Amino acid sequence: MKPATRYIHEGQAPDPVTGSVTVPITLTATFQQDGVDKPRGGWEYGRTGNPSRISLEKSLAAAENGAFGLCFASGSAATAAVFNLLRPGDEVLATTDVYGGTWRLLSKVYEKYGITARFLNAHTQEGFQAAITDRTRLIWVESPTNPLLNIIDIAGIARIKGREVLFVVDNTFASPYFQTPLDLGADIVVHSTTKYISGHSDVIGGALVTNRRDLYDSCKFYQNAAGGVPSPFDCFLTQRGLKTLAVRMERHQSNAFAVAGELLKAQAVQKVYFPGLKDHPGHAVAVAQMRGFPGMLSFTLKGGRPSVERFVQSLSIFTFAESLGGVESLACHPSTMTHAAIPIADRERIGISESLIRLSVGIEDPEDLVEDITRALLSVR
Ligand SMILES: *Cc1c(COP(=O)(O)O)cnc(C)c1O
Repeated sequence: MKPATRYIHEGQAPDPVTGSVTVPITLTATFQQDGVDKPRGGWEYGRTGNPSRISLEKSLAAAENGAFGLCFASGSAATAAVFNLLRPGDEVLATTDVYGGTWRLLSKVYEKYGITARFLNAHTQEGFQAAITDRTRLIWVESPTNPLLNIIDIAGIARIKGREVLFVVDNTFASPYFQTPLDLGADIVVHSTTKYISGHSDVIGGALVTNRRDLYDSCKFYQNAAGGVPSPFDCFLTQRGLKTLAVRMERHQSNAFAVAGELLKAQAVQKVYFPGLKDHPGHAVAVAQMRGFPGMLSFTLKGGRPSVERFVQSLSIFTFAESLGGVESLACHPSTMTHAAIPIADRERIGISESLIRLSVGIEDPEDLVEDITRALLSVR
């Protein structure tokens, strides 16, 4: 099956008991057992397993061309499940513009347990190769990165990971429709399903997918032990979103190109960060490893913070809010919102300046979106 078909059918066969075409929401905490040590159909307790969740785990594994999927109550909970594979003394390599919450987990939570993290300004195989030590056990990348839309060479890094180093890709920005990192050599793919996969900004969720049985078993053990699982209703919403992922991503892409074109023309704009543009430094790698471009782009405004304030006040269709990947267009100010947890000196050094605005271009009519941006940019001048 091709991706658009898989999103609708894999792991989502009609219910064998009632014929229900959609997967029923199984709202129960526990399941009747047929006798001592005889769980019916394998179901016992809702934290350990629930039919709505297992169905979503299968569909997400199929979406990422993977064998095994696990769902969590948030992308951050899925991220924590991966870091729980580590032991004291282990080291993580990540990029400087990693998701703020991932930076916070590594620097403020796992550091206490003797796991260290180094954040590299590297996008290539060589950059990561040079930084590996005998303590390195995990390489964590996002591509495109948040919020600067850098492109990381996934297949290149997969070639150097070696047997001792796990290679994990947070694929939230690209979505499985535009990029499947397991095919490029990653060991684990992580998602905040809150974003493109659920797609309607109405649910928080996370997932990981892998082809390796040993990693799946360890993460599944942790999922049940720590218990950060999504509710059956959240699983339903996420699966419902997944069904339309292909058509939504096509529209996010064409709308993003329309908005990027408008930003490039504007006097008030200093720089546009969008990997779909031919002069973006990662464009060639992006074309090689991605099938298209999601609706994420960032830009800097001339005139610093006062310009940013006027711009966001003047928007009427784009909503000023955190998050991304929903049907509605959003604008955010990373330095005071998504990336506020990162100390200001680090933020400025890596390019997340006060003038930076990040857009999540939704699936509204492109003319309305372009008009909204044009009007807000004029208010800045
Ligand atoms: C939002 C996000 C996360 C965290 O996911 P939550 O569902 O908010 O916990 C992780 N990585 C990326 C790239 C994100 O955008």
